[in-house]
Amino acid sequence: MRPSFHPRLINGPFDDPGLFIPFQFQNRALIFDLGDINSLAPKDILKISHAFVSHTHMDHFIGFDRLLRLFLGREKHLSLYGPPGFLKNLEGKLAAYTWNLADKYNYPLSLRISEVHPQYRLCRHYRCRDRFQPIEDPVELPFAGILYEEPAFRVSAVVLDHKIPCLGFSLKEHFHINIVKTGLTALGLTPGPWLMGFKQALYDRTDPSSIFEAEFGRQEPARQFILGELADRIARITPGQKISYITDVMYNRSNRQRIVEFVKGSNHLFIEAVFLERDREIAERKHHLTARQAGLLAGKAQVKQMTVFHFSPRYTGLEEQLREEARAAYESNTRQRTEAFDFGIGDEECGIQQKEAESLKARCK
Ligand SMILES: [Zn+2]
Ligand SMILES: [Zn+2]
Repeated sequence: MRPSFHPRLINGPFDDPGLFIPFQFQNRALIFDLGDINSLAPKDILKISHAFVSHTHMDHFIGFDRLLRLFLGREKHLSLYGPPGFLKNLEGKLAAYTWNLADKYNYPLSLRISEVHPQYRLCRHYRCRDRFQPIEDPVELPFAGILYEEPAFRVSAVVLDHKIPCLGFSLKEHFHINIVKTGLTALGLTPGPWLMGFKQALYDRTDPSSIFEAEFGRQEPARQFILGELADRIARITPGQKISYITDVMYNRSNRQRIVEFVKGSNHLFIEAVFLERDREIAERKHHLTARQAGLLAGKAQVKQMTVFHFSPRYTGLEEQLREEARAAYESNTRQRTEAFDFGIGDEECGIQQKEAESLKARCK
């Protein structure tokens, strides 16, 4: 599967956390956590449409100022999501600046903020032209795991325990569309931007019997196809990619259970590994995971790939030891799935994805 999303940590493992997730072939990105984002180029920061903040400890939220600075004066909507208390934290940041000129910008920025609680979320809207003074009270909406959804993917959150509420996130494609090169060649088609429109039509679940027009630019005339027939010739539908992000969590029973359920079946899990197991007591005191604990969780959840990050600076020069400890625990727990856990997990989610992919394939035939 050629992935649609290429997530990358914005900094080295000893620096502020943040996962940048650009979309393939689109001028767009998501970000999980807003630590120091200065390592990202402004053109990449400006791709961000939705930012998801695990909690507002400074190392996870200081990048908001940089984000706001670059977006100011642009006609953009930026959506941000954070844990309980997020509206107050965000309003505090906005209150730190003077906005007497903000209503003069030609292109007004607007912020849509969601504060996520276990059962509901509070949403509030702030506009540059109102000098970021909210004009309405927060609106309460139900929350049952999904924070944001589009035809192609969804972002979910889980509320975890870091002695304060801390959110874990996952991004999941509903299904994945691979373009079959030999199918394109057989139809005399060349790849190009038209494939984005074709994929979008499938993600939008457009009627397979409808006409799809492929445009190739000025040099070549457009061609028309029956969408379902074209899909049958050039597309292979497979289960979608899942990327998960877990940081700043205690290793208690409730967190273990929630994390494994939440990240199971991920293609790629990014998980904190702040301390070595030999310093487990410090990890407990500071409400973080050890590398071994991170690996055990990843193994139990059967993730396909794991990246550990958020290392304590006390291990400078020992990063390979942290990675190795996590890897060994991951492998041991993939082999012996019951070790250190007293609950089981199933494969329902992958099953659902597989069914969804199959039903779409059937519809396109
Ligand atoms: Zn942290
Ligand atoms: Zn923290």
